[in-house]
Amino acid sequence: MHIDTRAILAPRKSEFGAVVPPVHLSSTFELDIDSVSGDYAYQRGSNPSRADLESVIASLEEAKYGFAFATGMAAVSSVFSLLSPGDEVLFSSNVYGGTFRYVEKIFPRAGLTGTFFDDLGSITSEDLSENTRMIFVESPGNPTLRVVDIERLAKLAHAHGALLVIDNTFMTAVLQRPLDFGADLVVQSATKFLGGHSDLLAGAVTTNDDELAENIRLSQKVFGGVLEPLTSFRLLQAIKTLPLRIARQQENAEKLVAFLSDHPAVQTVLSAGSFSDAEREVHERQAKGIGAVFSFELAQGYDLKKFLHALEIPSFAVSLGGVESLLSIPATMSHDGMTQAARDRAGITDGLVRFSAGIENIDDLLADFAKALDAAQK
Ligand SMILES: *Cc1c(COP(=O)(O)O)cnc(C)c1O
Repeated sequence: MHIDTRAILAPRKSEFGAVVPPVHLSSTFELDIDSVSGDYAYQRGSNPSRADLESVIASLEEAKYGFAFATGMAAVSSVFSLLSPGDEVLFSSNVYGGTFRYVEKIFPRAGLTGTFFDDLGSITSEDLSENTRMIFVESPGNPTLRVVDIERLAKLAHAHGALLVIDNTFMTAVLQRPLDFGADLVVQSATKFLGGHSDLLAGAVTTNDDELAENIRLSQKVFGGVLEPLTSFRLLQAIKTLPLRIARQQENAEKLVAFLSDHPAVQTVLSAGSFSDAEREVHERQAKGIGAVFSFELAQGYDLKKFLHALEIPSFAVSLGGVESLLSIPATMSHDGMTQAARDRAGITDGLVRFSAGIENIDDLLADFAKALDAAQK
């Protein structure tokens, strides 16, 4: 079945023929006295509401296993828990700010090394050492939307006995399925598109590998960063409209990118695949469109603050992926955890604006942008 159908299909039959599965808030479950066992025992280990969600998260990607976490960073942390002291992880320099902070603050204490590449897409065998255990990448990257060839990186990683992890937050299974291109694990901040209404925090991990799944399940139990039942239920409801929302959000983003690219007040527009013909070709091969997020810079002679004050529809806020358009300045907001040098290397200039298109009427968005760009003239 297609993904829009899989997003809707109830994960199980419910009592009374309820079309929407109930929420089970119970922290503990009665066990059979003789065998001391049951379907569920204690909420952290597993519970019906999280299990419903996890089965749909797996199904969206047609993956064997899906796991739900309390936040995207808890999902990222569970993936890093697969590492041992001495291991090296390769990253692209435009990785999510929170992930960068993890590498900078926690890796040294854990005896791990994070090595950053400005262009992870062009690394070769020589860039991997015998300690390289993982390549961790976002494609498209945040906020410069650089694209890497997932299949090529998977082959490179596997030739060295390393894992390829893709943070697929910007695409979701609707637009890109990294496991199909050889990635070992996919992580997502479900706070963004999966949740889609800027009203919950959650994270997801998917994999087809039995042993990796066992270890991710272990990290749920020992770190305890799991998603609780009520939010699991709300996320499950939100996912039903994910394919619809993304289609509309991407359409709005495409029209805004076209408009801004031709506007004299705009100097650069960055979107997935826009960096080079080679990246466009790779992105078209592994994904179904640019997604809903793009970045841009105003031209000389235009004032960013005036522009932001004049915009009426988008909220000035971190995060992305919701039905409401959001706009942010990565250098001082989502990526302030990065050093200035790291931002410079990644091309995250102080004037770079990141935009996440919502589902508003496109004519209203275009009119809002046109008016604000006029108002920004110095
Ligand atoms: C937001 C985000 C995260 C972290 O997710 P939280 O839900 O905020 O913990 C990780 N990766 C990417 C690409 C993100 O945008």
